[in-house]
Parts: sequence; C-alpha cells; structure tokens
Amino acid sequence: MSFLQDPPQLPHPFRSDRVLRALLGRALPGARRDALDADLDALGDYAAMAWQRACTSTRRKPVLTQWDAWGRRVDRIELTTAWQEGPRLATRHAVLAAGHENHEHARLEQFARVYLYHVASEFYTCPLAMTDGAATALKASGNRALAERALPHFLSRDPAAFWLSGQWMTETHGGSDVGDTETVARQDADGQWRLHGRKWFSSAVVGEAALALARPQGAGPGAGALALFYVETVDGGKRRPELTIDRLKDKLGTHELPTAEIHLDGLPAWPLGELAHGVRQVAPMLNVTRSWNAVCAVASMARALALARDYAARRQAFGRPLIEQPLHAHTLAGMQAEFEGAFALAFEVADLLGKVEHGAAAPHQAALLRLLTPLAKLWTGKLAVRLCSEALECFGGAGYIEDTGLPQLLRDAQVYAIWEGTTNVLSLDSLRALAGDGLGALRTAVAAWLDGNDDMHAASAIQQSLDAAARWLDRHGTSRDTLEAGARGLALTLARSAAAALLARQATWAGANGDRRPAAALRRFVAQGLDRLVAPDDDDALLLG
Ligand SMILES: Cc1cc2nc3c(=O)[nH]c(=O)nc-3n(C[C@H](O)[C@H](O)[C@H](O)COP(=O)(O)OP(=O)(O)OC[C@H]3O[C@@H](n4cnc5c(N)ncnc54)[C@H](O)[C@@H]3O)c2cc1C
Repeated sequence: MSFLQDPPQLPHPFRSDRVLRALLGRALPGARRDALDADLDALGDYAAMAWQRACTSTRRKPVLTQWDAWGRRVDRIELTTAWQEGPRLATRHAVLAAGHENHEHARLEQFARVYLYHVASEFYTCPLAMTDGAATALKASGNRALAERALPHFLSRDPAAFWLSGQWMTETHGGSDVGDTETVARQDADGQWRLHGRKWFSSAVVGEAALALARPQGAGPGAGALALFYVETVDGGKRRPELTIDRLKDKLGTHELPTAEIHLDGLPAWPLGELAHGVRQVAPMLNVTRSWNAVCAVASMARALALARDYAARRQAFGRPLIEQPLHAHTLAGMQAEFEGAFALAFEVADLLGKVEHGAAAPHQAALLRLLTPLAKLWTGKLAVRLCSEALECFGGAGYIEDTGLPQLLRDAQVYAIWEGTTNVLSLDSLRALAGDGLGALRTAVAAWLDGNDDMHAASAIQQSLDAAARWLDRHGTSRDTLEAGARGLALTLARSAAAALLARQATWAGANGDRRPAAALRRFVAQGLDRLVAPDDDDALLLG
C-alpha cells in the first residue's frame, strides 16, 4: 500500500479559537459569558459537523424551477441542506435577535455568533446581514407601522415566524452608482405604491421581504430623487405573482447562495419615509451589512488558517513536518499576525456599533465608527483573498483540488471585496469620513489603545504611519483627483495603523494574564508594514494609453 496523507482536521471552531476567546475575555463582563458561551459552543459544534459533512458529501447548488408540469409559473428554489437549516440555527442561537437586545454589548455578542456560524452557514449569513440591515434601517426611519409589522419577524427567535429581507439596489446600470436606477414606483387608484422594474442582483430572493430603491413616478433624475420602499414577496405562503425570478446567477463562488435576477411588475410597496433621499435612508443598513462583511471575511481567514496550521503538523516534507520547516512556519506566522490584526479591527467595529447604538459611546466614538466601518470592510475583504490564496498554497497541490473543500475558501473570499461596496468605493467613502473629524477621532482612540503597552517600537511605528497619513492628506487634500487616486493607499494605511494599535491593547491585556502571543502578533504585524501610502504621479493615463 502506498502512502496516504491524512487530511487536515478542523479543531473545534469555538473551543480552540484563542483569539476569539481572548477578545471576549477582555471586552465582556464575566456575567454575560455563560449564556453567550453556550450559544457559541453550539455554533462551534454545528460548524465542526458542517465541515465533516462538506468533506463527505457532494456539493450542491440551489436549483430554480420556474414552471410546474402544468404550465404554472412557480419560481421555486430548492436550497442546500445548510440553507434549509438556516432559519432554525439563526433563531435558536439568536444570530439576529442578539444584536438588537437593549445593552451596549449586544453587537459584540451578536458578531461573535456570526463569526462562528458564517462558513458553516454557506453564506446564509448574507441574507441574515441584509435582514439585520433592514431591521436597523426600519428603526432609524421612524416608520412605526412598518417597524411594528416587520421587526417581530426579522428579529424572531421562532423559526416559524422568522422572515428574511433582501436589499434590492443594484440594477444593470450600476451597483456603486445607483443614480440611473430605472425601477419606478407608481401609485395606483387606491393610493398603493407599486414597483415596476428589474433588479440585477438579489441575494435574498428566497426572503419574505426586501428594501428596494425606486424612483417615484414623476420624480427627477439622479440618486437624490430615489426613494426607499419596503416590500413583501409572499402572500398566504405563496410568492407574489408581481415578482418573477428570471434566473439564478452562475457565480465564481458563494455557490450555495441563490443570487437572482428579478422582475417587479406592480409589486406592492410602502415608502420608509419621505419620497426622496432613499440612498441616505439606506445608509444605516449599509453600516450594518459592511460590519457583517468584515466579520465574515475574518471568519473565512480563521477557517483557512485553522486548516493550514493543522495540516502543517500532519504533512512531512524533506524529513520533517512542515511546521518544523522554518520558512513554512514563518509563512504561517505572518498570516496569523495579519489575521489577528484584521480580527481586532472587525470586532472593534462590532463593539463600537453596539456602544453607539445604545448611547454608551465616548464623544469621539461616533466619528470613529463612521471611519472604521469602511476601513474594516475594505481591508478585510482584500486580505481574505490574499490569505485564503496563501492558505491554499500551504496544502500544495491538494489545495487546488475541489473535493478537499479548500478551493471553495478562495472562490468565496473574492466576494467580500465586491458586494456591499467595492474597495475603491469604500476608499472614497473613507475620504468622506475623514472630511469630518475621522482622523482626530482615530488619533484619540489610538492613544487610548496604546496606553500601558510597553512595545515602544510598535507605538512609534503606529504614530509615524498616522503622521504620514496626515501629511499626505495635508499635501494632497486640495487636488480632488490626486486625493481620489491615492484613497486606497490612505485607507489601507489607516486600517493597518488602527489594527496595530488594537493589537497593542489586546497584547497589554493578554500580557497581564501571562499570554505573550498577542504581543508577538503585534511585533510581526508591525514588521509587515503599516504604511501603504502611494506617491502621486501623472502616469496613470500614460500607462493605460
Ligand atoms: C454574489 C453577489 C451578490 C450580490 N447581491 C446583491 C444584492 O442582494 N442586492 C444588491 O443590491 N446588490 C447585490 N450585489 C451587487 C453588488 O453590490 C455590486 O456588484 C457592487 O456594489 C458593485 O456594483 P457594480 O457591479 O455595478 O460594479 P460597478 O459599480 O460598475 O464597478 C466596477 C468597478 O468600478 C469601480 N468604481 C466604481 N465607481 C468608482 C469610482 N467613483 N472611483 C473609483 N472606482 C470606481 C469599482 O470599484 C469596481 O472596481 C451582489 C453582487 C454579488 C457579486
């Protein structure tokens, strides 16, 4: 019998995750842990089971059946097993409801659940994120009638009452720029608004509700004239006939997530607020979905790293396990440091969101959250692709083979950078946050995060990269084109500087408890560089000519 390699084993996703456990240890009062840990342990069990199941069964995609045998339009979608389990898992473990509890730790506790559930959920977290966003936007709109109708379903802990909500914004004209939205809202003789048009990406098409952008009949052109509407997609258990699914998209990744192109032909709709400025009304939703995106991106990184670390102890090359090969160990350790930085930033956003929503934030923290949300989303989205790619290489040829379950990690990771705002769109958004007091808020926060940490080299590197970012803004702030061209470099520099300072805070706490690993993560992260600023030049047009 020739040699057979042991496959990687997934350690328990909660019990073995020292980074998550240390964060919860530092950030949460002990009294809150019992109930939370029970849910996290159960979600970890589910994630371990789902990985085993994925390794031993044939992957499936959702299937759309548009017509029944007798010619009736049915638009029925058969979902994968994990998706069928989604409502039960999400409600039993309060993946949505926990975020809307009435205390400042609600979001942190929610996102710990999201982190553990995400990969196993097969991107069921995508419609959960949109539902969470819809709940948040409905609350912010002040529309009591709609909130009273939808929130008991969106935040239900009973799978039978639970509803998912989509966000229907992207059309064929654009997703970043929705200004040319063609979907029209018309009022019928009874005063009921109805939507007519085509939405090009709908990832929660199996949901019971959605928030949709549409142009009220007679309104002018441009994004400012769009209004935000609430719709329901089912009536008496059946899909409403005014909504048809044209097809499911054939995607690079997120295969289990049914993303559809849809037509609206008079679907009843209710405006959330005024019949304009719908893009502004969508903002609370996007802040929430971008936070989900960042946490889900770090969850993918955690999975890729956990498998790569395990495999490094099982696989031998040149007479010893990979983990004992200095360069392989160095590669993995560098990935671990990047992951810990990304984790720290994503969960800081989660924690801040809860504090700001519950009035428990310090004065500078609202501006800080406004800046860190796009930074966390854009940086973790890009890093997930790089880290998952590197992780696949850690398995050699096996990392490229479908039925190891590994290539899916890389394919899925690519989406984090695209949806909920691309890297460039979010870089430009972070410029808007900086135009307020974003940088001042970040400096105040960084000073507090560094307090008590004795790594002077790291503190100096963080201050230097923040100073460089401030100088860059001063020097180029008057030229819009230069500012925009360098916005990504600026955003990445600020994201990495913030992450390093957060690692320092965690290292201070862990050091007091005898754990030196977070301090090592800080050293390595800083060594891998914080400054990603780009010097402007005039060569873009030349290079593209
Ligand atoms: C799997 C999947 C599911 C999705 N689900 C949904 C959903 O449920 N609901 C929904 O509404 N949408 C959904 N989307 C759509 C997604 O939000 C959009 O694809 C995304 O916002 C980008 O829009 P676009 O595709 O029109 O690209 P474009 O806006 O055309 O962007 C193309 C490129 O131009 C860049 N760019 C655009 N403007 C600028 C600028 N001013 N400066 C610099 N660069 C710029 C972008 O960064 C990007 O690289 C989904 C997408 C995917 C892939």
